[in-house]
Amino acid sequence: MRYIIGLMAITATLLGWSGCKNDPGQGNHTDPPKNPVEVKQIDVSFNADSAYAFVAKQVSFGPRIPGSGAHVAAMQYLKTKLESYCDTVYINHGDIRKKDETKVIVNNIVGSFNPASTNRVVLAAHYDTRPMADEDPENPTTPADGANDGGSGVGVLLEIARQLQELHPERGVDLVLFDQEDGGDRRGDPGSWCLGSQFWGQWAKDNGYSASWGIVLDMVGAKGATFAYEGQSVVYNQSLVLDVWRTGQKLGYGAYFLNINGGMITDDHVYMNTFAHIPTIDIIHHDLATANGFPDHWHRHTDNMDAIDKFTLEAVGHTVLHVVMNRR
Ligand SMILES: [Zn+2]
Repeated sequence: MRYIIGLMAITATLLGWSGCKNDPGQGNHTDPPKNPVEVKQIDVSFNADSAYAFVAKQVSFGPRIPGSGAHVAAMQYLKTKLESYCDTVYINHGDIRKKDETKVIVNNIVGSFNPASTNRVVLAAHYDTRPMADEDPENPTTPADGANDGGSGVGVLLEIARQLQELHPERGVDLVLFDQEDGGDRRGDPGSWCLGSQFWGQWAKDNGYSASWGIVLDMVGAKGATFAYEGQSVVYNQSLVLDVWRTGQKLGYGAYFLNINGGMITDDHVYMNTFAHIPTIDIIHHDLATANGFPDHWHRHTDNMDAIDKFTLEAVGHTVLHVVMNRR
């Protein structure tokens, strides 16, 4: 994913969403509903050891740079794993032209539950890794393992797929593993990033694919990760942001899901919104201690398995799975 465009103030209303509850000046808001309807929540579990193993397996192939043998091996592994859990799996394959007319091959991997259902949601993460660790002052031209940036989101989605196979969700669920997310210009054209989701978004639009909402996971596995309201997510689907964050907090992951504003980030969710018109949010590590909001290991050689923590994978995976199974 790319640089934060700027911290924003547009979620001021969001931070104040529950403010009137305790404000005596706001009138009486405390009457209970006349006929409260208890909606039974479906309990879900998420195996963090399994998710961690899925991340480690991807890293074991080496950096998953498009065009490399490691990328091909990872693609085959991910397709096979999804085939063992999902009802249908296919490669969303094609090419996209960059501004300089270079042709880029895209192989997105799509696994679906209940493919015939018209009530669908979509979860996504990118499986490619950046060709070079160009934020690292040392060896900036060689690649990092991409354990967090690439591996973690996919690891969480594979474990979600494994759980969904047992849960038999009523709705349709699509898991999209995007290719070609992380090869963009470091300080140049924002459109040079997220080529896999650009291709898929156009495909979705052209083929009448639709989903009620979507969630992208990116850098969701680091020790002590924190997640802020990402700006574009709030623009496109504020209610889903709130649902996910509240759910995470209710499940006991309040140390991860913070009620603070993050920046505007160009990530795969942007093209799921603008090309495919699916109101999609991004759960992405927002580091409170760094100037750009990304964790220290972002696009550096320290993005390896030492950066990964099972509790963070669980916080995100458990929360997202709960939302998938319970959000109406
Ligand atoms: Zn990246």
